[in-house]
Order: sequence, then structure tokens, then C-alpha cells
Amino acid sequence: MNNQLYGNLIFELSKAGRKGYSLPKNRFGNYQVPQELRRQQDAELPECDEMTVVRHYTNLSANNFGVDNGFYPLGSCTMKYNPKINEEMAALPQFQKLHPLQPAETTKGARALVALLERQLCTLTGLAHFTFKPYAGAHGELTGLMVIDNYHRSRGDLQRKKVIVPDSAHGTNPASAAVCGLEIIEVKSNDKGLVDVEDLRRLVAEEGPAIAAMMMTNPNTLGLFETSIPEITKLIHDCGGLMYYDGANLNPMLGACRPGDMGFDVMHINLHKTFSTPHGGGGPGSGPVGVREGLQQFFPVVSPYYGNFAVLIKACVYIMSLGRDQIKDVGPLATLNANYIKESLKDVYELPIEGLCKHEFVFDGLKDKSTGVTTMDVAKRLLDYGYHAPTIYFPLLFHESLMIEPTENESKDTIDGFIAVMRQIAEEAKNQPELVKSAPHNTPIGRVDDVLAAKHPVVTFRQMSKE
Ligand SMILES: *Cc1c(COP(=O)(O)O)cnc(C)c1O
Repeated sequence: MNNQLYGNLIFELSKAGRKGYSLPKNRFGNYQVPQELRRQQDAELPECDEMTVVRHYTNLSANNFGVDNGFYPLGSCTMKYNPKINEEMAALPQFQKLHPLQPAETTKGARALVALLERQLCTLTGLAHFTFKPYAGAHGELTGLMVIDNYHRSRGDLQRKKVIVPDSAHGTNPASAAVCGLEIIEVKSNDKGLVDVEDLRRLVAEEGPAIAAMMMTNPNTLGLFETSIPEITKLIHDCGGLMYYDGANLNPMLGACRPGDMGFDVMHINLHKTFSTPHGGGGPGSGPVGVREGLQQFFPVVSPYYGNFAVLIKACVYIMSLGRDQIKDVGPLATLNANYIKESLKDVYELPIEGLCKHEFVFDGLKDKSTGVTTMDVAKRLLDYGYHAPTIYFPLLFHESLMIEPTENESKDTIDGFIAVMRQIAEEAKNQPELVKSAPHNTPIGRVDDVLAAKHPVVTFRQMSKE
């Protein structure tokens, strides 16, 4: 992209008097906007010719990184390929032109799709009912916790206000519990990265009658399968609590096992992760909540109508196009890809927890700590090579977390290319550490001050010439 020619902001390309439009002759006479509604001064809008506008925005769009133009191993996000047939189906006018207030008899097809998706999710999860109202994973967590709260209230069990959350959990878990008015108790991880059952036993002994639920992510955020689930669910159920399953990333479970069979009572699924809707930059999402039989009457109303309907269409099409047999390959392939990367890099990157992972895993930075090259540097250097960075500095269990999730979609060639680049960066860290520490070098914008960018984002343009 040629920034000199086309500029960074459309305002910088503006030349007084330039135009990229022509309006038809006014045939309706001269209606005057009432004086009190008029601007004091003309709006400061950019004035550009059509080609300048087209090139400016086309070039800007080429700066976007997406699954369609590169490998995107962002851990805990499941940035998987969105098959084009999903978009075609969601764009059918019969779906797209629906209005939520249409008479029910004219929306039978749409409602049949929701019912079909509910059956599909029940089959995949072993739960009995789903609500599709939540707009995201965190919204699903809140909805699911409200189900649990409503259940305890219905039994007059008003003192159950505490939720057990593992220390490795996604940050949305404690946040959702807090928004729901519940109190969070943290349970520790053991040295294998799994829930420490002894610590849990102690918490249950201390807090038993106050425990509303325990939230679990499985495989957990380290990509490890929680092996003590039967014991954990028994502990929680015996003290009167319910088990909540964070199924944001259901990828490794597809075709392998089901939360319902493992004793979970309530769960949410991120359709925008596991079932393929692209979801960078905050949307669009859908976080349906499933419950076992007998809890469906406690679903709260958290949004109007049917939730994010276009995402439901894409999830349903994704499931149907894989079909009953191929969907069983998703979990094993995602797991194979993650383990292949882990094993190919663990001699140069620090692997804090050995053994098989599921769909993702976490390195604790480079193995050789003497170079001073951090996880942040590695992530920035990856951009130079055309890869999206993995998730960094999450989970918080390690100082230099680098969390990699390849998904099931990628070919061996793509994965081998990524491994080669990760090794190359490890080599550079040894021989030319400054090159890595000052990366990225090939992107339109170099290294930004993350804190400043987050705390004081500049989202408006000031016209310097006029000040
Ligand atoms: C992504 C994720 C969430 C939150 O989902 P959003 O749609 O971003 O709200 C919750 N838990 C886990 C484990 C996740 O990976």
C-alpha cells in the first residue's frame, strides 16, 4: 500500500472544491430548513474525487487481517475458516428480509431453523433445551448464571450466592458472576494445570450451603482435559450446587464427549467460535445457553426476539455441511494440529506443562531467557512474517504466556510454515535480539504503546490547519 499517495486519513486527502458525486436537479422547490435546526458553520467533510475515495478505502481494507488471508492461531478464540456457503445461506432474501414483528405464520421457516439448530446442539452436548437469545459468550454466561440463580430462588435456597471459579478461567467467568450479583471464590490449579480437587474439597467443606454453582472450562484454558470431572461434579451436586460448563471453545469436544454426559447442568456455546462465524473486533456473536431437563423454565429474557439470527443460520449450515460423520473429525484434527505444533517447538519455547494437550496449548515464552526477548517481541515479529500473533499474556498462570490454537482447518503445509517461522524467530532472538525487540518492521504501523492506546485512544481527527 502506498501511504504517500493515498494518505492515512480521508481528511488528509481533501482538496477544497473536489467532488465525487453529482446530484439530480432539484424538482421539489426550495424547502428551507428552519433556522434553529441549521448548523452554524458548514460541516467539515472531506472533499475528494471518486477514485481517491475508492483507492483509499480499498487500500485500508487490505490492511485487515483475517482467516481468509492468513494463519490466525489466536488461542482461546477458535479463529476457524468460515465456509462461503454459510454467507450464501445467511444472505438468502427469505432470511435476510425477515422482520421480527412479522406475523408468526410467515416466519415458520426461520423458526424451523432455530428448532433444527437446537436439536443439533442438544445432540452434540447431551443437554435438553437451548435458548438462543444471548449475543456473545459472556452474555451466555450471565444468562446461564441467572438460570442457576432462578433455580435456587425457586427452592427458597436464597443463601446460595457463591460461585467457584478456577484460577485458570477466562476473565469473563468471574466478571459474569459479579454482574449476576454472585460472589466469586477461586479454586487453585495443581502443578499439572488442572483443578486442585483437594483445594475444592476444602472450599466445599467451608462454604457448602452458600455454593450456587461451579464454573468450569473443559478442556481448560491451558488446553488440558480436566480428568477429575466425575469427582468434581459429585462434590458440587452433593452440596446442592449446580455445574456450569463454559463451552465457548467446544472444538475439541465435537465427536469426542458431551458436557451433559459428564454431569453439567447448564452451559453456553460460542457459535462464533466453534461453529465458524468470523468474530474479530467484537462481533457478531451468539452464545446460546443449554440446560438439562427441568431447568428450562428458569431461562430469563435477556434480549428480544431470537438473538443474533444470522449467526444461527451460519452455525446450522456449518453443522449440516459437515454432517453427522465429519463433525466427529473436528475434535481429533484440532487436537492433532495443536500437539504437532507443540511438539515441534518445545525445544526452543518453554513448555511449562508436558503431555498431550487438546485444541490449544500455552508456552511460557522462549526457552532461552538470556536474550531478553519477550513474548510481546515474538508476537510482534510474527506480524512481519505475515502471521496473526497468538494470544499473549493469557492465561495469567505464567509470566510469558503464548497461547496457540491452530484449529482443525489448516493443512500440514501451513502449519509447517508457521513452525519454521517460530523457529526462525527463536534463532533471531539469539543472534539479532534487537531485530526482534524492535519488531514489527513491515507493517503500516510500528510498535504502539499498548497502555496509551488503550487508556487514551485518539478516535477523532483534528484539522491542524484550522487550529
Ligand atoms: C471467548 C471466551 C469467552 C467469552 O466469549 P465472548 O463471546 O467473547 O463474550 C468465555 N470463555 C472462554 C473460555 C472463551 O474462550
